[in-house]
Amino acid sequence: MGAGHGQLFVVSGPSGSGKSTVVAHVVRTVPDMIFSVSYTTRPPRTGEQDGRDYRFVTRAAFEQMLARSEFLEHAEVFGNYYGTHQSVLAAAARQQKDVVLDIDVEGTRQVKSRLADAVAVLLLPPSAQELEQRLRARALDTAEGMRQRLERARHEIENYGIYDYLVVNRVLAETCAAVEAIVQAERLRRAGRPPGSGEARDWEARAAAARRDNNKSQVSAILETFGAQRP
Ligand code: 5GP
Repeated sequence: MGAGHGQLFVVSGPSGSGKSTVVAHVVRTVPDMIFSVSYTTRPPRTGEQDGRDYRFVTRAAFEQMLARSEFLEHAEVFGNYYGTHQSVLAAAARQQKDVVLDIDVEGTRQVKSRLADAVAVLLLPPSAQELEQRLRARALDTAEGMRQRLERARHEIENYGIYDYLVVNRVLAETCAAVEAIVQAERLRRAGRPPGSGEARDWEARAAAARRDNNKSQVSAILETFGAQRP
């Protein structure tokens, strides 16, 4: 029998936060995890594969699916639709696996309101300046695109209160380990296991350090670098 039970794990964070690397790491290292391939109306980027990274569909096709209420959640990001199909839940339950969703803050809100026990993790850049540098290094954006991404990142961070865990991405390998630990610790907790030894104890300690309530002041400091008022 698999270790998963159809549990949902959401990972959000601004582009340039290393999110896709983190999500790929979790799917690769944690047993019985599947990645929820989203539907999108945005065109594929170089190297992206239909069915692996996204299911690329037309706006008309997306709107039809929307009208049939086929999405667990959906959002419009930078003028394109993105959505998680309802069928990921049944697929995960059938295969006795858990699912990782890489979705934005609006989608997370919808998932949380429908499935109260979904676990949501927000990845944060150390500062606005650091995020800007990373976006510049990717060289994917125009100046306007960059401004929009920074604005969006700020919006996401301002809504940190809907997330269960907050992980500041300073060193990517550490961030991968932290998110892996959160998933493993949540599994142990849900299975009603007593605090374990060795590896399990390490997961629990890492997860505890990442809990939202232990990171509020850190988030306030990061928000300030985005020019936001302290909440
Ligand atoms: P990108 O176009 O860079 O791949 O993704 C843009 C944003 O859309 C990211 O923040 C990503 O997390 C979000 N996103 C991707 N798939 C979904 C989805 O199915 N639902 C929602 N709500 N957001 C998504």
